[in-house]
Amino acid sequence: MEDEEVDARVPLIELRGVAREFEDDAGVRVQALADVSLAIEPGELVCITGPSGSGKSTLLNILGCLDRPSDGSYCFAGRDTAGIGADGLARLRRDEFGFVFQSSNLLESATARANVELPARYAGARPHERRTRARKLLESLGLGERLDHRPAELSGGEQQRVSMARALMNRGRVILADEPTGALDVEQGDELLSRFQELASEGHTVVVVSHDATVAARADRRIELRDGRLAGDSGSLARGPSTSASPSGTARGSAGSAGVLAAVRDACACLLAKPLRGLAVAFSIALGVGAVVTLLALAEGIGRRTLDMIDPGKITINSYGAKDARVRLTPEDAAAIRSEIASVQRVLLRTSGSLAVQRGDVTDSTDVRAQTQSRPLAFGTEEWPLARGTSLTDRDSERRAQVVVLGPTVAEALFDEDVDPIGEQVLLAGVPFLVKGVLEESPRPPNVDLPEDWLLAMFGDVAYVPFYTGLDILAPGMPELETVESGGSTLTAVVFGNLTIEVRVAAGTVVDEAAAAIRDLLIRRHGREGFGIHIDNERVATYEKLWRLHPALQAGIAAVSMFAAIVGVMATTLVSVGARRREIGIRMAIGARRRDIAWQFLGEAAIVAVVGAIGGLLLGYFIAIGVAALATPEGMIEVPVAFAAWFVPVALGCGVATGLVAGIVPARRAARLDPVAALAD
Ligand code: ADP
Ligand code: MG
Repeated sequence: MEDEEVDARVPLIELRGVAREFEDDAGVRVQALADVSLAIEPGELVCITGPSGSGKSTLLNILGCLDRPSDGSYCFAGRDTAGIGADGLARLRRDEFGFVFQSSNLLESATARANVELPARYAGARPHERRTRARKLLESLGLGERLDHRPAELSGGEQQRVSMARALMNRGRVILADEPTGALDVEQGDELLSRFQELASEGHTVVVVSHDATVAARADRRIELRDGRLAGDSGSLARGPSTSASPSGTARGSAGSAGVLAAVRDACACLLAKPLRGLAVAFSIALGVGAVVTLLALAEGIGRRTLDMIDPGKITINSYGAKDARVRLTPEDAAAIRSEIASVQRVLLRTSGSLAVQRGDVTDSTDVRAQTQSRPLAFGTEEWPLARGTSLTDRDSERRAQVVVLGPTVAEALFDEDVDPIGEQVLLAGVPFLVKGVLEESPRPPNVDLPEDWLLAMFGDVAYVPFYTGLDILAPGMPELETVESGGSTLTAVVFGNLTIEVRVAAGTVVDEAAAAIRDLLIRRHGREGFGIHIDNERVATYEKLWRLHPALQAGIAAVSMFAAIVGVMATTLVSVGARRREIGIRMAIGARRRDIAWQFLGEAAIVAVVGAIGGLLLGYFIAIGVAALATPEGMIEVPVAFAAWFVPVALGCGVATGLVAGIVPARRAARLDPVAALAD
């Protein structure tokens, strides 16, 4: 700073008519200082004495730029401090002043060395440089063996020497000490005083507040306060500015800021030193995120289950139209639909026809079905269980195996009760087939209330054959049925040997659009629209409504849980600001600017938030799995849970946002604390 070049006759510290008025909680005004004028030169060892309440600390705080006069002026090195903002004052404290308070003015969470390094960290000094300097300072004060001890492990005298090393860390010109020997025994006090004398002789300005006569006796100059007024001044014994072996001006690290990185590192150190405090916040974030994940998984599970039940994603295509216009659908059509239309998930081909079935001298006629799904479907997506034997396989279809799975009605008609049909031979349209399995009595179709024997007649009179085998025996030579006109509407009779293509589209697909795409594709392939495409419009409408509602439901769930988490976390962190006022005050006295404090709190909040969010993600995952597992045993309602990949970024985002939102208010509050008030705790 060019202030160092000012006229040598300007005192280092100059107060003119300084007053400081406080208003206490009851609104009563207290005149802590009145009309104090004095000048202090470099190299002086000044002792401020006076009875308790006479304004000593107030004066010292003003000298150290922790507080401002309410009247009068304070010039430091010729510069009026009234014109310097909060950050400027913080910089001045950081670079020019070192504080030693009565007691407990070290950060409990940090080692002696880290405490000493702190001012240099705020000044942006290089790690290696400041570590070395901190060690040297501590060694020079006889604390070489105590570098890694925390304040609680040090005696009062040792703590004060650590404070002193810290005060010297940035090579500040002025050391301010408020009753530094108050908590020390005589011997330790003596030792400390000698250190102060040494510092003064090296060119530091040392101002010590004390009501201890022995301290006063060893000072060069005594200033006495009474009721906030100057009651005596033994006068300057100043070695004068000529001895300006000013300790300042030496390398002071880059004048830059402590930086975000340093703040984060500091935040880590603080968190590690008091892990419980951080864990409490992380835990409340984890609870919030856990709730979000659990509820999302439930909503997702229930949503998918519901959507599955509605199942609109079925598009049925079959041959349709006048005899000449009608197209014959092929497995190649199905393959094209599958590969060219992105929303198509699954394609089922089926064909059927009524054929004669014969065993020995028993002849019957039955509905022979062939489909690419190897296990028979009863209704919707339900599989039709086997009573005996095994089901058809894809391999049977590829090999065009002549095997059949009989419906219960057919089996009963062809076989005596005491004969096992499995492995027996039957003839379908005169072609021999081996019986591979027999279906159970058909499960009831939903919402249909019919007598059992009706159901059997309706749904049990079937025979399933492998798909390609079926194509071979059903297609050739079979008379195609005409479309039937009845009462003005056209009924599509399922045409013998013709394929029906059943397409399933992915959840969330606009079914109409998929159907239109299939229509275009088939027209391109066949040159005409000789086919019908069927979708259930009512189902589709319901489905699409639910599908749109679903994300809203999930967003609502996330928002409510996160709101609860934010409130909880904010409460916890605000309490921690209260509990850390003294720490914040110390940091400010050392030279932390408001933004350094804010960054530190935000840094802590961010780290805690990330830990909490990850924890919450795992917590929610396991709770959801637990809920599903607990509820599954027989007789209980099965709770569907489902996870989606997007839960991860959403949950992490929610957690981190919670931590930061809940961290901003406390960080601002901490940064706005008045250093004097914070230190007063
Ligand atoms: P000393 O350090 O000499 O004991 P102080 O400087 O701490 O005295 O206080 C001087 C007077 O100012 C006392 O009467 C004290 O109550 C009052 N005072 C100090 N700080 C505040 C404050 N922040 N609010 C209200 N009154 C205060
Ligand atoms: Mg005091």
